[in-house]
Amino acid sequence: MSKSKKKKPNLEGLATSGRKEVIARAKKLAKQYCVGDGAKFRLKDYKTTPNLELGPEDKPLVKETLQLGVDALSKMQDILYAQDKWSLLLIFQAMDAAGKDGAIKHVMSGVNPQGCQVSSFKSPSSEDLDHDYMWRIQKHLPERGRIGIFNRSYYEEVLVVRVHEKILQAQKLPEKLITKNIWDERYKDIRNFEKYLTRNGTIVIKFFLNVSKGEQKKRFIERVDNPDKNWKFSAADARERGYWDDYMDSYQEMIKNTSTEDSPWYVVPADNKSYARIVIASAILRAMHDMDLAYPKVSAEKIAELKEVKKALLAEK
Ligand code: ATP
Ligand code: MG
Repeated sequence: MSKSKKKKPNLEGLATSGRKEVIARAKKLAKQYCVGDGAKFRLKDYKTTPNLELGPEDKPLVKETLQLGVDALSKMQDILYAQDKWSLLLIFQAMDAAGKDGAIKHVMSGVNPQGCQVSSFKSPSSEDLDHDYMWRIQKHLPERGRIGIFNRSYYEEVLVVRVHEKILQAQKLPEKLITKNIWDERYKDIRNFEKYLTRNGTIVIKFFLNVSKGEQKKRFIERVDNPDKNWKFSAADARERGYWDDYMDSYQEMIKNTSTEDSPWYVVPADNKSYARIVIASAILRAMHDMDLAYPKVSAEKIAELKEVKKALLAEK
């Protein structure tokens, strides 16, 4: 991603553009934030703010852009569902208050709920801890034709678990298996797991909502000041903030080791919520476009049959 001078948004003509044009633009935008092969990844090369200069005057345009993305997504999801072959797994990871929940809500707002399932992963239960860490994940994987959304995921196993040694100690693993190689082993297992899913028709794409420490502070204070947002905040969130640098190191290593061409990470600038949502919608469109989606072809026989049925319906008295 370039660190060049900020440009004003070039969204002219977008409102009247067709779906093809929207997808072409979305693909171009998403590409800027896609890590692809992670070998050379450095988190510090990615900003938390948009590449464009967005002021309050751009609000209507930004809203309209997101709506276009949401509409295109809705159409493509309809085809994904009808085709019933591919599925899409979207993974969201971030520090608290980075905007995961809002992004999921807005980006998926136009999608038919029948074709979409959201799963949130919190601290594992004692039953979960009696199994390997992918056990609780498996049953939430999307069926063919569906979009699965993971609000947090198995990636917590190389994030919060890496930051807090005591969580790893409580995982009931045989001591012999806890070595200095454990993180590299987990990265490798995750890469293989995603490769396996891809080979079976589930495309996995991953979003890191990259919020700055300053913006998180602002949002935390808002959560305290606004009674309607109090429920979203806890002292534990503030405590985790104290481990900021450790988390950033873990994100850096995680993305470097698990971003691949087939299952890439997107590092989404998250200080501006609306822009983050546009980037996310664009990345989903990009992934779906690469699937070569098409409505199932109906055979000549079936068309003839449908025509007969129509004729009979019209002839009804
Ligand atoms: P919000 O952004 O609204 O606060 P959240 O995703 O942070 O939503 P919480 O209930 O606040 O939801 O937090 C879930 C917690 O569960 C997180 O702190 C996360 O790190 C933790 N967690 C998730 N998976 C694991 C895991 N495998 N091991 C340990 N902790 C985990
Ligand atoms: Mg939380």
